[in-house]
Amino acid sequence: MNLIDPILQFHDELTRIRREIHAYPELAYEETRTSELVARKLEEWGIPVIRGLGKTGVVGVIRGGGSPRAVGLRADMDALPLQEHNAFDHKSRHDGRMHACGHDGHTAMLLGAAHHLSRHRDFDGTVYVIFQPAEEGGAGAKQMIDDGLFVQCPMEAVFGMHNWPGMAAGAMGAVCGPMMASSNEFELTIHGKGSHAAQPHMSIDPVMVAVQIAQSWQTIVSRNANPLDAAVLSITQIHTGSATNIVPDSASMIGTVRTFNIPVLDMMERRMREIAAHTSAAFGASVAFEFKRNYPPLINHKPETEFALDVMKEVVGVDGVVTDVEPTMGSEDFAYMLLEKPGCYVFIGNGDGLHRTSGHGLGPCNLHNPSYDFNDTLLPVGASYWARLATQFLARPPLR
Ligand SMILES: [Zn+2]
Ligand SMILES: [Zn+2]
Repeated sequence: MNLIDPILQFHDELTRIRREIHAYPELAYEETRTSELVARKLEEWGIPVIRGLGKTGVVGVIRGGGSPRAVGLRADMDALPLQEHNAFDHKSRHDGRMHACGHDGHTAMLLGAAHHLSRHRDFDGTVYVIFQPAEEGGAGAKQMIDDGLFVQCPMEAVFGMHNWPGMAAGAMGAVCGPMMASSNEFELTIHGKGSHAAQPHMSIDPVMVAVQIAQSWQTIVSRNANPLDAAVLSITQIHTGSATNIVPDSASMIGTVRTFNIPVLDMMERRMREIAAHTSAAFGASVAFEFKRNYPPLINHKPETEFALDVMKEVVGVDGVVTDVEPTMGSEDFAYMLLEKPGCYVFIGNGDGLHRTSGHGLGPCNLHNPSYDFNDTLLPVGASYWARLATQFLARPPLR
């Protein structure tokens, strides 16, 4: 480990800040107390603040020297609608809300870097520290972009970070290319014709149509997608019927589609639509099909990922860097930022849960678990990574 000394000396304060945020979790676009705390700290440290991007979003603008070059570092601030099982001092004061994804830690680590960078402006250019709302399903990153983030804050590249339980505490890692999947949902409604179940010839049976479509959809991944492309099509709900002696007049199917790239996603949506329309037509039924794209796949860019891995090596040592991080089928709205700007999203290990103070819940220390807690030993590690990444990015020639 090669952490930055002044950041290490700030560890206690960062722990206090992290626990304060943990104690007052706020949901998507309601992060008023949290964004107030972030803005107050930044201003206290002499960092001008831009507010109003993505409703509760906050951006700190740290300038050093006169270079027009700039880089962005991003953290998320929102919590989850979950009842915390931990009973330690910094447990949630808000019933039914909890920082169970470690965004309290992400916010504190970026504040640690901002504090250091503002005191040691040993770089030539601008560092934008981006605190975004609503990562958990609310697409806060996209909202900030739509509100003009990259216009008001022009930057060459943008970087993100998430803690990762199960990875050794303080280890870091990333991969080039797809790291998190796109997340999408669909709903299909089949309209047939109901009848007495003893008179099936009087019906257009939507149950049979649903079964045929469900089977045929499963050939999209096995027959239409390139075997080297990962894809998931899961039908998670089928609803129809109300009695044993009635052929229902409609049936619906709901589920999720995950892919690591947009062309595969385009293909899957198109094939689902074609199969649904033509199969139902063959039976004389009609369909309504809705396909909603939530987060796009998160795709790390090569030069920025190689650069981020270099910085990690300096911070946590060669042995601490995990270069073969397994991509996950989960999703993350930092993907929107990587569609607009080059950049890289990395994992920082949160350990196996042994860091938790007494009074924690009995469940595992996994993301979105009511017994989770962010590992405070990471605060100076993540903050040192951020500070080194920003200064080195601006010191090196442009990556592209
Ligand atoms: Zn989460
Ligand atoms: Zn998260």
